[in-house]
Amino acid sequence: MNSPWAEFDFNALPNRVLFGAGRRREVASEVGALGCKRALIVATESQRTFARSVADMLGDKYAGTHSEAVQHVPYHTIEAVVAEVERLDVDILIALGGGSAIGLAKGVALERRQPILAIPTTYSGSEMTHIWGISRDGRKTTGRDPIVKPRTVIYDPELIVTLPAHLSLTSGINAMAHAVEALYAYNTNPIVFMMAEESVRALAVSLPKVVANPASIEARSASLYGAWLGATVLDQVAMSLHHKLCHTLGGSFGMPHAQTHTVMLPYAIAYNFNYAQDAMQALARALDCDFADVPGVVQDIARNNHGPTSLRELGFEQENLDKAAETAAQNPYANPRPVKRKHIRELLEQAFRGVRPHVVVQ
Ligand code: NAD
Repeated sequence: MNSPWAEFDFNALPNRVLFGAGRRREVASEVGALGCKRALIVATESQRTFARSVADMLGDKYAGTHSEAVQHVPYHTIEAVVAEVERLDVDILIALGGGSAIGLAKGVALERRQPILAIPTTYSGSEMTHIWGISRDGRKTTGRDPIVKPRTVIYDPELIVTLPAHLSLTSGINAMAHAVEALYAYNTNPIVFMMAEESVRALAVSLPKVVANPASIEARSASLYGAWLGATVLDQVAMSLHHKLCHTLGGSFGMPHAQTHTVMLPYAIAYNFNYAQDAMQALARALDCDFADVPGVVQDIARNNHGPTSLRELGFEQENLDKAAETAAQNPYANPRPVKRKHIRELLEQAFRGVRPHVVVQ
């Protein structure tokens, strides 16, 4: 285990966050505070109603809406929005929605160098990062650029109450995965560690309440707070095995993003368990459970709240396990426990069957 308390770098790109029910109504003054006058709303089709109400709130700063954001940010969608930006003389992008809408605004900002104000409506966390991803000619490339990090983020829990319970659970566990991997990142630091532990605590407590009562503003606030912290640490440190596995399963086998994170997280924790003891102690504190029970308790959050627990139920084909293990073990990357093809194959087999992960403390 690295020792983040002995020597570390701390890199945080500044942004302004407004948090609280109803805060979206401050959107026009925030656009003004950034020195901007003409805003284009970028959203997904299903967010049209929200987009219309935000358009009204923008008043004379409203220039138009593009509500055709789709998953994985195909390059042609960026070209379409760039054309709108030029036609409407836009000087700021309002990203309204989940990772897809925010991702599209980021792709446009990369081309046009314009500021983004984000109003997230899922727990994806893209709003807090300077990471972009674009699909072109069947390949998704990712990178980092400070210009794509939203300058202002408005977290308004009233906007997330419509996210269905099952999507809330998996999107929330996706957020938790950012925090978990930040705890054992090779370049973690004490500040990131504190935020990551608090993120896991807030999400573990609030997600079951969100599933039980999706309209609860209190539960939505607590879960958005946890997701915000998770995204903040995602922006600052490197992700490890879990993200590599999910990237492989999504990119090469078309597995659904947040659901795959939900299934895989307990197994990635179990894999690293004896190689990241500080992180596991933090998780035990955050989850209020026995040290050795951490991977199982993370899986219980999904199991007890009608979430997926196996790759099989997500439609993964058993005959692809070998190929997935091969791909995930290619190209070395930082991870507390060395990544060996044979061990990854065992991990994937367990995840395929959804066996409750069990660890022997060493
Ligand atoms: P998404 O934006 O595609 O949203 C999922 C679905 O939920 C969509 O159909 C959307 O219209 C709908 N939706 C969104 N908010 C809703 C609401 N409040 N009520 C009802 N429906 C709602 O997906 P996502 O899970 O938010 O984000 C996943 C994407 O984000 C992935 O492509 C991932 O790669 C990317 N991502 C990027 C970063 C980054 O830092 N760049 C970080 C995390 C995720």
